[in-house]
Amino acid sequence: PPDSALHVNKGIDAPETVNPNFVRKSRVLQTVEYYTNGILLGDRTILSQAFTIIESTKPEHQNLAQQIIADCLPHSGKSFRVGITGVPGAGKSTFIETLGMFLIETFGKKIAVLAIDPSGSTSGGSILGDKTRMEKLGTHANAFIRPTPSGGTLGGTARKTAEGIILCEAAGFETIFVETVGVGQSEIAVKSMTDFFLMLQIAGAGDELQGIKRGITEAADAIAINKADGNNITAAARTRMEFENALHLFPRRTHSPEPKVFTLSAYTGVGISDLWNFIQHFESEIKVNGFFEQNRHNQAVSRMHDTLIEALKNRFYQNISLKNKISELENDVKNSKLSPYEAAQMLLNYEL
Ligand code: GDP
Repeated sequence: PPDSALHVNKGIDAPETVNPNFVRKSRVLQTVEYYTNGILLGDRTILSQAFTIIESTKPEHQNLAQQIIADCLPHSGKSFRVGITGVPGAGKSTFIETLGMFLIETFGKKIAVLAIDPSGSTSGGSILGDKTRMEKLGTHANAFIRPTPSGGTLGGTARKTAEGIILCEAAGFETIFVETVGVGQSEIAVKSMTDFFLMLQIAGAGDELQGIKRGITEAADAIAINKADGNNITAAARTRMEFENALHLFPRRTHSPEPKVFTLSAYTGVGISDLWNFIQHFESEIKVNGFFEQNRHNQAVSRMHDTLIEALKNRFYQNISLKNKISELENDVKNSKLSPYEAAQMLLNYEL
């Protein structure tokens, strides 16, 4: 509706500064303690600065980032992490705004919103790039919203988001949403760093069951059919039934409650509290039966291996003395002088 808070305002040109004494702060790095203490005090400005350092690829920033993360780690882990996926337009940001404000207003919770953009870039602003999204949440003192880290591979971006979760938890954020566009690998990345995975769907898109084919539905702990309002209510209920039927095809869960399908409206808020009740039920069940902790430990071990693989790959390809050898052997493979396997083995031997 036109009275929605979610619309794009026309921008204005930033005026020249009127303060003659204004000096733009240079981006000097502060000490580790400056960042860690600020984060532990819940200072959102310092938290943002720390995110910028984590996201930087400069070696001196990376060093500092690793120290900040190490210092925050003992204070982390206490949030409940909710992953959210859905195609562009499914209503992810509207939903997070509504649910986030509900949690703040009802329970006084502190909410952080992070994202993983599969394109790994902010161009086009497909995810959280647009500042006018989540207007209320974005300006609320209990909320922290960080757009997806730009640039780099999906693996690199995902790693930065996972590190960001640690900082947010150390800063006292209790519910952390990690949003991604539902187009493949990024969903697996989000699943690998969250405790609860929500799939947001819409009725009548014609391809609502697509997720089932891609196996994403099987990973979902809940499916929410959004936009169940106005003359869309019947279609949403039908889609809900289709998903409920589809869920029967999957193996039963052994460690967590069976996934459930909800209809809701991020606009009107109808259905939001039902979904939240289920998420809370899910959280307490997996905390009691130990799966919560076990899952986080497994996630940490996987992250170690992912990081190692990424580092080994980088080290290998950044090895200057290998560069010529690689292009030489590429030619040999092209000309069928060597099989790809022989060439790969030779490069591995060459490195040693
Ligand atoms: P995202 O790309 O998944 O983040 O989707 P947005 O939150 O930007 O929403 C996409 C469009 O759907 C926007 O025009 C929203 O205003 C609209 N929308 C979101 N939630 C609802 C809802 O519950 N009901 C209706 N009718 N429209 C919604």
